Amino acid sequence: MKCSRCNGEARFRIPYAGLNLCEEHFLEFVDSKVKREFREQVRFKKGDRIVVAVSGGKDSMHLLYQVHKIFGEWRDFEIIAVTVDEGIGDFRVKCAELAREYSKELGIEHRTITFRDYIGITTDDVAKVDKELKPCTYCGVFRRKVLNMFAKEMNADYVLLGLNLDDFAQSIVMNVTRGDVARLARLAPHTRRVEGFVPRIVPLRRVLEEEIRTYNEIAGIPYMHGRCPYASLAIRDVYREFLNNLEKRDPAVKFSTLNFFEKIKGYVEEDVGRELRPCRICGEPTIGEVCKACELKMRYEKLKDQV
Ligand code: SF4
Ligand code: ZN
Repeated sequence: MKCSRCNGEARFRIPYAGLNLCEEHFLEFVDSKVKREFREQVRFKKGDRIVVAVSGGKDSMHLLYQVHKIFGEWRDFEIIAVTVDEGIGDFRVKCAELAREYSKELGIEHRTITFRDYIGITTDDVAKVDKELKPCTYCGVFRRKVLNMFAKEMNADYVLLGLNLDDFAQSIVMNVTRGDVARLARLAPHTRRVEGFVPRIVPLRRVLEEEIRTYNEIAGIPYMHGRCPYASLAIRDVYREFLNNLEKRDPAVKFSTLNFFEKIKGYVEEDVGRELRPCRICGEPTIGEVCKACELKMRYEKLKDQV
């Protein structure tokens, strides 16, 4: 099988694009998708400071690699990698170590911040006490808040997240089936400036999880192979399986799900931005009186007192 772009032997089949690619052109194919997303989502300028959220997993380590490759030589442009330690046994401690080492290799400043310091409780704490809500419910909300707080402390202009196309398609379908229009509208990227929020950019959102894994193996990008011990409890896994099954029949299904979201996004996001105000407890921007993170923390405190 010949590569669709050169005379070399093709090693990778890209069914949704009708391409067969050799190793070199596979890397180029992924690179061009990432660059295109950067171009479409944001215009960085001199003096900008960006925070890259790096969990140590394959997607965020790939993102750090791409950021370094594309912007590493830029002058007067600051890149800070940050790992949020949610307090999950020593799982994230090991991830943070790997993220720190890789950042150092690339010459990028790295910080580790913790739920313990910013929220006062950890994901392990809530998993022990709350038997009804899944740890991921707390964890995702706390992570978003902590990253926003950190980015503001750093005076950052943007936060970059390593969400891939699989993550995106899952989030879209999840919010559609829950009827959660507000949360659907709040999916990144957020390029519009809203008081109290640092805009979030998602440059990997058109790259499949499998493509990132393959790329990392070829390019020697290190990452943590283990999964968070709470991941199997997450409802997201059901959607992952659902979309992966659909993909066997329709290779473009994750792209069409994202394209659907792109088409409707403009109609729903207006309302959401307008309703924001500072949380009565912590001051972070929120839709209601109290932000979701403070609401969850109060729930935890109440349940803890009952134990
Ligand atoms: Fe947090 Fe759930 Fe992700 Fe684990 S799988 S890091 S608990 S959101
Ligand atoms: Zn709050």
